[in-house]
Amino acid sequence: MFFDKDAETMPRAEIEKIQLEKLKKTAVYCYENVKLYKDKFDKAGFDPAKIKTLSDIKYIPFTTKEDFRDNYPFGLFAVPMKKIVRMHASSGTTGKPTVVGYTKADLYMWSDCMARIVAAAGATPDDIVQICFGYGLFTGALGLHYGLEKLGAAVVPSSSGNTEKTVMMMRDFGTTALVSTPSYALRIGEVMEEVGIKPEEIKLRLGLLGSEGCTPEMRDQIESKLHMFVTDNYGMSELMGPGVSGECTERCGMHFNEDHFLPEIIDPATGEILPEGQSGELVVTTLDKEGLPVLRYKTHDITSITYEPCKCGRTHARMMKPTGRTDDMLKIRGVNVFPSQIESVLMVVPEIAPHYQLVVGREGSADNLEVRVELADASLLDDYRNLDELRSRIHHDLKTVLGISTKVSLVEPKSIERTAGKAKRVIDNRPKETATFSVESK
Ligand code: ZN
Repeated sequence: MFFDKDAETMPRAEIEKIQLEKLKKTAVYCYENVKLYKDKFDKAGFDPAKIKTLSDIKYIPFTTKEDFRDNYPFGLFAVPMKKIVRMHASSGTTGKPTVVGYTKADLYMWSDCMARIVAAAGATPDDIVQICFGYGLFTGALGLHYGLEKLGAAVVPSSSGNTEKTVMMMRDFGTTALVSTPSYALRIGEVMEEVGIKPEEIKLRLGLLGSEGCTPEMRDQIESKLHMFVTDNYGMSELMGPGVSGECTERCGMHFNEDHFLPEIIDPATGEILPEGQSGELVVTTLDKEGLPVLRYKTHDITSITYEPCKCGRTHARMMKPTGRTDDMLKIRGVNVFPSQIESVLMVVPEIAPHYQLVVGREGSADNLEVRVELADASLLDDYRNLDELRSRIHHDLKTVLGISTKVSLVEPKSIERTAGKAKRVIDNRPKETATFSVESK
C-alpha cells in the first residue's frame, strides 16, 4: 500500500532532479542562517552557490554530533524561536542532550514521511496501533504517532512501562499493530506467557519496531512469539526522528524518503564517498528542514545503499540494516567486535532465551569478553553435562564468527534486566581512557 504513490514511485531521474534543486537551496539556506555552516564553509573555501551537480556534495563539510553539543541548545536552529513549534532532545551519556526544533512545515513533512513508511510496512486505516515507546522528549513515540494518525489508523498512545496493563489493553482493544523496540516486543511476549494470554487471543498482526538494532534472527524470534509480521525503520533525532527510511513488506532494505533526505555512504576513515553497494558510514543531508537543516550528518551507522528498483514498486533507494555503529564497535584484544555479530549467533540457539548481555573487562593488560546468555528453561540447570555441552557449543560458534575466545556464562531464565526502551547490551568495565565503546543513544 502507498501513502503518496506519485512521490514514492517517481522515476530515478526525477528524484535526482528534485534532490539537486533542494540541495542547492538547502546549502545556501544553511550558509545564510546558521553560523556553524557559515564558519565551516568559509574555512573550507566552499561557496554554496557553486553546486552544479549532486556529486558536488562532496565539497560540503560534514556535520557531527559534536557540532550539536558545541551549539547547545539552539545554536543550529535556522529560524527565530517564534517559528519553532516543537522541540525534542536525545540524551547522551555525557554532558548535555542534543536539542532539535521543528517549524509547522517540518512537522507536516515529518508526519508525511512517517505515513509513507508505516503504509509501506503494511499498516492501513483499519489498524489499531499501540505505541509502546516512551513519550516525552524522545522523537520515536510522537513521530510514529502523527504518521499513523495521518494514515488514518487508530492510535493508542499507551507508552512504555506497565507491561501487564499494555498486554491487557492489547487484548481488550483488539490491537492489530505494535510500535516498540525489538527488546520490548520480546518482553511483551514474555508477560503474555506469564499472565496466560496466548498469541491467538490477541489480534496483533504487524510490528513496527525500531529505535534499536534487530538482527533477522531476533526478528524471527519476535514473530514466532507474537505471531506478527515485523518491519524495521530508521531515523535519528538530529535528522528529524523516525521517518528517514523504512522497510516495505518485501523486507529487502529500508526505503529512504529520498525527496526529503539525501543519503551517501562514506569511508569513515577517509571521508571519501563509496560506490553503490559498498559498506561504510551512512551520511544524510536533510533537503526540506526549515527549523534545523542538517548538511552531511555523520550517523556513525554502518550500512550500504542500493538504487535498484524494488519489487514493491517504490523507486527510492534502500539502505540495508546497519551492521553496527562506528562507535559501538568493541575492540577486544585488537579485534573489532560488533554486538550484532554476537546476537546473530545467539538467536539461533534453541536452548537459550533471546536476552543477552556483553561484559567487557580487563585482566592485567588483556581485554576479556564475557557473553551472558539466559537459559530458556530452568530445568537445564540440573543437567551439568548438557550445560557444559551447550556452553562449549556457543563458545565454538562465537569463536568462528568473531575470531576470538569469549567466556560464555549461562544464567537463569529472566535474570538479565529487561527495559521498556533500548536494552542495555554492553557493560564495559575497562578503565575509561582506553574503553573504545560509547553507549551514546541516538
Ligand atoms: Zn520496496
